Amino acid sequence: MAELYPWLRPQFMQMQALISKEKLAHALVLSGAAGLGKSTMAVALAAALLCKNRQPAGACGECKSCLLRKAGNHADLLVLHSDSQHIGVDAIRQLNHFTHGAAQQHGYRVAIIPAADSMTEAAANALLKTLEEPPAGCFIVLVTSNYPQLAATIRSRCQQWPLTAGNSAELSQWLSQQTNKPPPAFLLEYCQGAPLKALSLLADGAADSLSASLRLLDEYFSGKLALSSVVKQLDGKAELSGMLGYYLRQRLAQPLEFLRQQAVLAVYQRWCRDATRIIGQNSALALTSLLTEIKSLLQHQEAKWKS
Ligand SMILES: [Zn+2]
Repeated sequence: MAELYPWLRPQFMQMQALISKEKLAHALVLSGAAGLGKSTMAVALAAALLCKNRQPAGACGECKSCLLRKAGNHADLLVLHSDSQHIGVDAIRQLNHFTHGAAQQHGYRVAIIPAADSMTEAAANALLKTLEEPPAGCFIVLVTSNYPQLAATIRSRCQQWPLTAGNSAELSQWLSQQTNKPPPAFLLEYCQGAPLKALSLLADGAADSLSASLRLLDEYFSGKLALSSVVKQLDGKAELSGMLGYYLRQRLAQPLEFLRQQAVLAVYQRWCRDATRIIGQNSALALTSLLTEIKSLLQHQEAKWKS
């Protein structure tokens, strides 16, 4: 089977132990930040469940079931696809039909719902009954990067598997092995510990650009760089709002007193809202006023420290 990312292995082994004791729940939610490898985990779990010659570490990769699955032809595996941004009720009806059918390979049947938080209300309702009375031998694996968005009625009927990437020293080492150089120190924190997101930012050079942007902000807030210059260099950058959010939360606001922190973040949130709401907004002007307002909040704080 495809190599499972090292940080997913401990939880995968727990699942294996539950499968061999026939104690794995029939409905599971795999949740966690985007870029953790949740879909890989869902597929590895499905592979292990469907395999005719299951090994302690998962699917054998060689049996008839594994070969069918690798060819994308396993009749007892359903991975929901959705063309639109939402998973609609028709897709869930298809899933319900699948789960109530007979297994073609005389084993388990597995359905995977990627981006399960994007189910419409009608779709979630259509799924509830199947989750309440799961057909024998059938597993439903829901995957989400946005757990709070998943309907509470769905959550309460599933076993929870919040996936984690573990220790950041090990992840940095893994990233170094993939790219042949150590990742910048901020990167994993910026990606909320999600190694695959970090890897994609490293691969397309976005990590270097982020690093440069963070440096610009440091220079601006420490008074070494003029406002117009920082605005000119940052305006229109990809990932600008994520990068600013990270900088303000993790670096700038940390040492401030609580109310001042909240004020900084409120200014930032207003800027984010305006960026999506105001059509034809002058982005350079909006960024200028954001940075000016935050700097003035910081100066008030400094004045207070000195007094
Ligand atoms: Zn197999």
